[in-house]
Amino acid sequence: MLKPEQFHLRALHNTAIPTGLDEDLWASLIDVIAKDNSIGLGQKLKELITNGPRQVTKGLQDWNYENGLFLHKGLVYIPDNKNVQRKVVQQFHDNIMGHPGQWKTVELIIHEYWWPGITEFVKAYIKGCTTCQTTKIKPPVKVPLKPNEIPLGIWETITMDFIINLPISNGYDSILTIVNRHSKAIILAPCHKTITAKQTSQLLIDYVWKHTGFPLTIILD
Ligand SMILES: [Zn+2]
Repeated sequence: MLKPEQFHLRALHNTAIPTGLDEDLWASLIDVIAKDNSIGLGQKLKELITNGPRQVTKGLQDWNYENGLFLHKGLVYIPDNKNVQRKVVQQFHDNIMGHPGQWKTVELIIHEYWWPGITEFVKAYIKGCTTCQTTKIKPPVKVPLKPNEIPLGIWETITMDFIINLPISNGYDSILTIVNRHSKAIILAPCHKTITAKQTSQLLIDYVWKHTGFPLTIILD
């Protein structure tokens, strides 16, 4: 049985089921969750959340189970099922909003839904979206400084830091700052706080090393 203090902890998260849930999507979601065993959640998680010992439920505070749906921090958890994930993205990207870009699409979805790797999934979805690929004019690549304004001194040692949770601008919520340890020249690259190590390397290549050559040392602040 749940103890009262556990109820209080879970109540910190908004656990309301989204009201605008498409009926077909709802049905497939319930269906997939019922069948889903591939990720070790399913019935086991439900049992753990509702009956598990305190030591176990403590690690599951972010999770909840309501009306046949798993909620992660109040967001409907979409199981590892590409069909259902595609349907969710389709509902927001194609049906509701008229093909917004990657970050806007993710932002819309994570008001209600979440699954691990959602950002990469949406990116791939939009890459394969015929409407986006044929009708959208690609915005020019943003470079914070013109190449000739980037000091061409030696960028042997750089320091990097992320400033996160900024007001969203052009879909970005964070900035990667790259500072030349010697000249103190600074380069700013807009990014997202969910940026991966791979994406960070790509930013460094695009914003710094293409102009300056590779550094010998990187210091993470
Ligand atoms: Zn599209």
